[in-house]
Amino acid sequence: MIIKKLSATIAAAAIALFSQAFIASAQYKLPEAHDNQHKELLAAQRPIAADIKLINTVKFIEDLRSDDILDNEVFSEYWESQLVNPYTGATIPDTKELDVSSYVSPLENIRVTSNFGYRPRFRRVHKGIDLGLHVGDTVRAAFDGKVRICRYERRGYGYYVVIRHDNGMETVYGHLSKFIAKPNDRVKAGDPIALGGNTGRSTGPHLHFETRYMGIAINPASIIDFENKTPFNGTFTFDRALHDKAQTTTVKKSTKRRVRSTASKSRARRKK
Ligand SMILES: [Zn+2]
Repeated sequence: MIIKKLSATIAAAAIALFSQAFIASAQYKLPEAHDNQHKELLAAQRPIAADIKLINTVKFIEDLRSDDILDNEVFSEYWESQLVNPYTGATIPDTKELDVSSYVSPLENIRVTSNFGYRPRFRRVHKGIDLGLHVGDTVRAAFDGKVRICRYERRGYGYYVVIRHDNGMETVYGHLSKFIAKPNDRVKAGDPIALGGNTGRSTGPHLHFETRYMGIAINPASIIDFENKTPFNGTFTFDRALHDKAQTTTVKKSTKRRVRSTASKSRARRKK
C-alpha cells in the first residue's frame, strides 16, 4: 500500500516536472508577444497548482499515518487478546514519555465519586477513578485510538470498553449500559463510544475509568485535571517502579513478599 502510494506520488511529480520542462522549452520558440501572454498565464496558474499539490501531500501523509505506520507499531503487538491487561511477558520500559495532549473528557459533567488507590475495606486496589453519571449519558474516547475490547463481565466491569491509543496507553470504561463503538473501530478523542450505566459490580450509575500503560494502571488523576477537563501537562512521564507499586500493594501484603521495613524487622527479632 505504501509502495503503491509512493510510486503514484513519484509518477505525478515526474509528469509535473516533464510538462514544466516542455512548456519552458516551447516558450523560446514562440513570438515575444505570445510568449509574454503565456508567461502571464503560467504565472497566474502556478500558485493554484502548488496548492493542489500541497493538499495532496498532506492527505497522503495522513493516510499513511492512520493506515499503516500506527497500525504496525502500536496496534499489532499484544492486540489479539480479550484480557484487560494483554501485556503478559512484555518488556516494560522503566520510564516513558506519553503524549496526552489530545485528551477529551469522557463525560460532559464531571463528578468524582471515588478515587484511585488502595481500599482497605475490600483489601484491593481500585485501579481507576469513578465518575458519577446518569444512565444513558454519552461516554467518549479520552484520546485518539482504536477500540480493542467491547465485553461483558458480570462480577466486575459489567459492560466495558478498552481502547488502545496512539500514544501507547489504554483506557478502560466500565459499568456501561450500551456500546456505540465496536472492536477495531478507529476513534478520535471525543468520539462517542458507549452510554453510561450501572452494570457489573456497581452500587450506582457511574463510569469506572482507567488509564494504563502496558497493562500497568496509572492514577488517572495524576494525568488529568478532571474538574477542568484538561491534562496537567501535554506529556506524562510513566514511571514503572512508581506505578507498578501503586497497583500491587495488596498482592504483596497478602503473599507476605513485601520487603519488611527496618522497624518491623527489629520487632520480629525482639519476638524471637
Ligand atoms: Zn471504579
